[in-house]
Amino acid sequence: MGAGLPFAYRSGVRCFDVNDLYNLGMYSGRSDTQPELAFRMLFRFAGRSVVDLLGPRVWDFRVRLECAGCEGAAPWRFEAPDVVRFGGRVEDVVAPSVGEGSASYAARVTSVGARTPLVSPVLRKLTGEYLEAGYRWQMVPVAMQADYELVHRLGVTSCIAASLWLAERFRAAGYRAEAKRGWFCGVLGGALDLPHACVEVEDDDGVLKTVDIAKAQLAARLSPDTADFQDLCVGSVYNKVIASTASGGAPFASHGCGSELPAGVRADIRAVR
Ligand SMILES: [Zn+2]
Repeated sequence: MGAGLPFAYRSGVRCFDVNDLYNLGMYSGRSDTQPELAFRMLFRFAGRSVVDLLGPRVWDFRVRLECAGCEGAAPWRFEAPDVVRFGGRVEDVVAPSVGEGSASYAARVTSVGARTPLVSPVLRKLTGEYLEAGYRWQMVPVAMQADYELVHRLGVTSCIAASLWLAERFRAAGYRAEAKRGWFCGVLGGALDLPHACVEVEDDDGVLKTVDIAKAQLAARLSPDTADFQDLCVGSVYNKVIASTASGGAPFASHGCGSELPAGVRADIRAVR
């Protein structure tokens, strides 16, 4: 409070914003705060051989949808896993039908990682410039990330904001590019709900590539021995990510009942061994 961290009084109790607290811990330099420990554990995979991130991986994919303030039975719209364009499969789908209050989606999803680095010098240059610009990765509320110009003006970045920003730069350079949301899987058993997005861009060789710029940045910040993973983030697809049909600034789900509140989406994605 002395240093100016914003808070609000609710029922006589001082409440801080959860993202503020997370960022405070993450950049405290103490090395023993929950965010620092969680991110180090979460990104341990990034320091290992990237071979495990290539090839197929099967997931038991379940999502629970909640409509707070539901006003009655209506159809659900859910931006489902969409991995076929990267060689994956979606099977045994149980999609939500018309209903009230809550619903669920389940499927068996096979994600496939493949090494397809960016070949276009223009795309590589734009990506490199972004990585060198020094934006600081932070937890940013999803709704705020849609205003990616504001986020970057603050010297900050995050998966969705970074992807929206970079997709726009790619398009301005004449490429077909779109920021897409997806799921970053195998993340502390789902305990940390980390919003994921990346840029999908059609490269000079005609291949659809993904640029996961924020993960590259985060890995670089967390550990110096993650160079191979950082390379993988620039064009290649890795199998811990499940692409969806949702565009960068869009929600994963909505309920047609007319409730003004956004639908809650809680994913439980487990590796099938
Ligand atoms: Zn509803």
